Amino acid sequence: MKRYILILMSILIVICLVKTISYLGDTEKNTSVVSDKSYIITLKQDIFSLMMAYPEYIIDIEVTDGDKVYLILKSGKKLLYDDGKEKTELEKIQNPDLQDMMEQQYVLGSVDSLMPNDYNPGRIRVYSLLQEVYGTNRQEIEKNLTGIKINSNYHGFNKNNAAAYFLENSMKELHQLAKTNPQIWSYIHPIGGTYNFRYISKTNRLSPHSFGIAIDLASNPNDYWQWTTPAKGNKRLQSYPEAIVNVMESNYFIWGGKWGQFDIFHFEYRPEIIIKALYFTDEERNLWYENLPVENPKVSEIIWLIEERLQHKTSPKVDNQMN
Ligand SMILES: [Zn+2]
Repeated sequence: MKRYILILMSILIVICLVKTISYLGDTEKNTSVVSDKSYIITLKQDIFSLMMAYPEYIIDIEVTDGDKVYLILKSGKKLLYDDGKEKTELEKIQNPDLQDMMEQQYVLGSVDSLMPNDYNPGRIRVYSLLQEVYGTNRQEIEKNLTGIKINSNYHGFNKNNAAAYFLENSMKELHQLAKTNPQIWSYIHPIGGTYNFRYISKTNRLSPHSFGIAIDLASNPNDYWQWTTPAKGNKRLQSYPEAIVNVMESNYFIWGGKWGQFDIFHFEYRPEIIIKALYFTDEERNLWYENLPVENPKVSEIIWLIEERLQHKTSPKVDNQMN
């Protein structure tokens, strides 16, 4: 009899152990499901923002090897969303993927002081995307330029992807504002510059001015982080008219004043960054497209494509996160 009790007890202990182990396993699985979920939500929101921003140039999505996501461009080129590498801030700037470019959430509206040094949303640029949209080299870019008349002078800007259209529109709106608020005029004129094929100071990376998608408004010695001290930059930032920032952002321009490495007179046409800021926040959501105006046919078309192409996409491979 004692033997039977012992055997019964051993069986019970084994059952308990198995249950505990499988419970622990489940908890682990649940945590990774949660992080998968937020990874997938961000991935879909980033791709949505990119496809809305460059509708003629990003035409499809492809998933290969089970989990590498590529955006298919009009030229047939493919852009990898996430290379799975862990990078420093400098490495992200020098060799970004689309995820790096979209990672920092741009905040719309006014700011009351300089941003932290490592907050630079939009300063990371995937050049292969800019080349696809605005021209692969100087000659091609220059063919795509058009002159935008601002206060009787013409300024070169890229006509592709409606960049020049939105520059012209923003200048009209600013001039309208300047009629009732003359102080604004002195922050706009004289225009510092638009198209200029050049490298970013002390780097081998092309300036966004090289693609004809950036404008410097009236310059001040305290506009650029490399020209001045943070204290003086901060003072200049605080004097900057909020109305200018609002008009530019509503025309899909990001403001260099919101970079830790500030560039206060610089505005850059980056619709993907503004669209992400408009529709998505860092807040956890169940449905990635919860905030979108789905009655807009273009919006629902892109949501449908993303859901269709990424229906089997789960998390990135584990080794992706490790290296
Ligand atoms: Zn600039």
